[in-house]
Amino acid sequence: MPQDAGITRDEAITQVAAALAGPISLDEFVERVLAIWPTNNKNPKAPVRQTIRDHHLGKTLIMTDKKTLTPIQMALAGAQFRVGLSREELKEGILYVYPAFQYFLPQTKSATELQLVDEEDHIIPTEVTEITIQRQGLLGAYSYKQEALKLGWWFKKNRLSRQDNLLVTILDITIPKFRLQAEPHHEYRHHRKEIVVANQQLADTLFSTLEAERNERIWGSTAVPTAYALLKDTIPYPADHWLEVVKKDPRLRWNGTYITYGDRFSPIENLLRDLEPARRDQRPSRPPKLSKQQKQQVYRFHVAYKRRNGLWRRIEIQGSQTLSDFNDFLVGEFKHDFDHMAGFWKLVRRGQTKNYREIEIATIEPFDGGEGAHTKIAALEMQPGDKMKYVFDFGDWHEYVIELEAIEATTEPDSAPKRESHYPRVVAQNRPHYEYCTDCAEVERKTVAVYLCHSCAAIQGEPVYVCKAHASPEHDDHYLEEVVF
Ligand SMILES: [Zn+2]
Ligand SMILES: [Zn+2]
Repeated sequence: MPQDAGITRDEAITQVAAALAGPISLDEFVERVLAIWPTNNKNPKAPVRQTIRDHHLGKTLIMTDKKTLTPIQMALAGAQFRVGLSREELKEGILYVYPAFQYFLPQTKSATELQLVDEEDHIIPTEVTEITIQRQGLLGAYSYKQEALKLGWWFKKNRLSRQDNLLVTILDITIPKFRLQAEPHHEYRHHRKEIVVANQQLADTLFSTLEAERNERIWGSTAVPTAYALLKDTIPYPADHWLEVVKKDPRLRWNGTYITYGDRFSPIENLLRDLEPARRDQRPSRPPKLSKQQKQQVYRFHVAYKRRNGLWRRIEIQGSQTLSDFNDFLVGEFKHDFDHMAGFWKLVRRGQTKNYREIEIATIEPFDGGEGAHTKIAALEMQPGDKMKYVFDFGDWHEYVIELEAIEATTEPDSAPKRESHYPRVVAQNRPHYEYCTDCAEVERKTVAVYLCHSCAAIQGEPVYVCKAHASPEHDDHYLEEVVF
């Protein structure tokens, strides 16, 4: 009997949302949807919640906290945003609909339905016009059309000039209806301090939403209206337009659809940045110049092997040494075959959560090559408590968690020749939990194993350890891996 009511789940949600007179708990909302959209689904609430998340947040509903939904027209009523005017807009007497109204115009509405009123609630008559924009792209010249509002007479009436802004108040997003105010530059300057605070609040709200999002990116269509709804009663004065705020915050980056971390780029985006000179400044900053003291400092790391609990080393390495040096040392210490690739990632904790995001910092090729291989330890700018992920051999995937425990002055006298030769070094390690030779055990001898025989282990279905004496000829041609304790 599902969908007996003859409506879809989506329509049921729209109906319930339209009937709301105020905020409602998420649970109660889902109950109301299920009352008009009965289903045989064993767990009917989950798909309703999912549809709300995917199709209604930022469009018909705003999640004002984790458990509360507010109809969007109510959540955004009174929210304000600032729009700066370009030289061209002033000269032509137009206001481009995008990006000014991005995420403030419902997708179901067209720009021609947009209503504007002034401070006295008088209608500001406007018309939508299409402007053809010429651009030079990678593949040659191209053009596209942009919608704009004709507002020349209103600009003149308000004596708007360069550096003046517009303040837009959302009256009813579902119409959509807005109040337009001129904000002369001296007003803006007068409120400069409050605007700085408001911008910070807007950036922080977007950033904390991002930190809590598993996918490391937030959709503008949901995140932007939600942030404005959350801030409308707390900010001291309207913040700059969200696009400006995102652009100026190094933690954030806008890619046209979603907001992500400032240091997160897809391979395609990296390629585009290299091709387009204008984008080159978006490249991660150059490594910092290191002082003599930074280079001499000793970084003490705790290195733990993920696959075997309790296997760790405390390793000291100097600031001037590189990730390639670190890799070489780890390969030797943990007895890996040297001829494989390895990688280092910075692990950045996401807000107060237990989750980390990974930022690739180096790929080390055998014999000293690879992107980032020559990055100096000091240039990583790590603080005690910061973590890295290290993987040796992308086939066998030997993964380690490396935590910086301390940064200390070198213990070597300043005049000591070739100071670096003392580092890296192991200063502490786990108590060994030895494994013993399986072959020796058969004749009741106890010998510490040197290898793990993968070939025998595969046949016997359990780990087979082998001592040095038994390695040959018994395990000739077998796949032996040196074991570290
Ligand atoms: Zn043996
Ligand atoms: Zn074997």
